Amino acid sequence: MSARLAALLIGVLVTVPALAQTYDILLKGGRVIDPANQIDAVMDVAINGDKIARVAASIPGDQAKRTIDVAGYVVTPGLIDLHAHVFGYPGALWPDDTQLTTGATTVVDCGGSGWRTFDTFKETVIDRTRTRVFSFINVVGKGMVGSDAENDVSDMDPEKTAAKMAEYPDLTVGIKTAHFARKGYTALERAVEAGRLSDKPVIIDMRITTEYDRTTERIFEIMRPGDLRTHSFSDHQVELLDRATRKIHPYAREARKKGLLFDVGHGNGSFVFPVASDAMKDDFPPDTISTDLHNSSIFSTKSDMPDVISKFLNFGMTLPDAIAKSTVRPAQVIRKFPELGTLGAGRVADVAVFKLRRGVFGFTDSKQRRLLGTQKLEAVLTLRAGKLVFDQDGLAFPKWDTVGDYEIIAIP
Ligand SMILES: [Zn+2]
Repeated sequence: MSARLAALLIGVLVTVPALAQTYDILLKGGRVIDPANQIDAVMDVAINGDKIARVAASIPGDQAKRTIDVAGYVVTPGLIDLHAHVFGYPGALWPDDTQLTTGATTVVDCGGSGWRTFDTFKETVIDRTRTRVFSFINVVGKGMVGSDAENDVSDMDPEKTAAKMAEYPDLTVGIKTAHFARKGYTALERAVEAGRLSDKPVIIDMRITTEYDRTTERIFEIMRPGDLRTHSFSDHQVELLDRATRKIHPYAREARKKGLLFDVGHGNGSFVFPVASDAMKDDFPPDTISTDLHNSSIFSTKSDMPDVISKFLNFGMTLPDAIAKSTVRPAQVIRKFPELGTLGAGRVADVAVFKLRRGVFGFTDSKQRRLLGTQKLEAVLTLRAGKLVFDQDGLAFPKWDTVGDYEIIAIP
């Protein structure tokens, strides 16, 4: 062997350890479900800094500074909760406490702020949370602060709403109209006008529908493709199902064909098992899964993302489908795909790890009914932009008896 070749080989050998730790974190051996990339397989996910570096069948553990064994767990893109309350509404919750601990790394506040209050929302919540927070801005300038404000047509200004959205085009992802307890379609029409001006979707809530002389058919006519109806599986003035036949109304199918979207928005009063069960039996699943999490629903039904997903699993939805409706689909709806909602290489490393438990589990709906299910999804670990922010099972930590004894601190 020539001296030159030997030197070269030594050079190679010496450089191996430097090359070895290519990745900061490696999630090893989990069932990776990334519907945007048609992945549902046991794979490894490598992360560098705040980005997904690589997803592959086998990435050696010595290539990472930190390897987390997630064999037996489900690994997904960080969930996107399309409908929750983190500002304005008196029942708003702090998203880091209530979303990151459930595998959701992105939350859309559904109408808490209007154009008058959005700046405060940004300063006090959006800029301060580790959770990524977006806004469906309320067509009501004051936001979702009670019925007097929400019925005040004079404060529903499409131009001012669209102007505020133009100021923050990345943070405002659509317009919300809700709780309008007056006759007519003004609230919806103003919201749709703001949607037209901003070229963003509108999401409508309950009471906008069949109360107050409104018809669902007319509402669906005013809505545009890409607009959403939330609380789809409630029984308020039932819109989806014919009560006699328990089948989906033809106009709901027409609306879906036209491109209208049906979101869950579980909440405290907006998800009932018979409606969800009949809709699933009649092949009308939601387009997107969301919680409407606020300070009542978190106690009454604990309807966080894994809870709502679990309910649909028990009504026959597959896990990959439920994950798609909680990741890539909401990302598409708010036009944040492919930046969000996928584990594609180069995308932000928002990752959730779950345990899919099998056994007998109780769930509750908004009408205090009980469902006994056989599957339950539980969040165990969350990474937000490559940082470990939640680790229920201590998957990233060494076993306690392998890392030395307790410190004895001398008492002075
Ligand atoms: Zn809500």
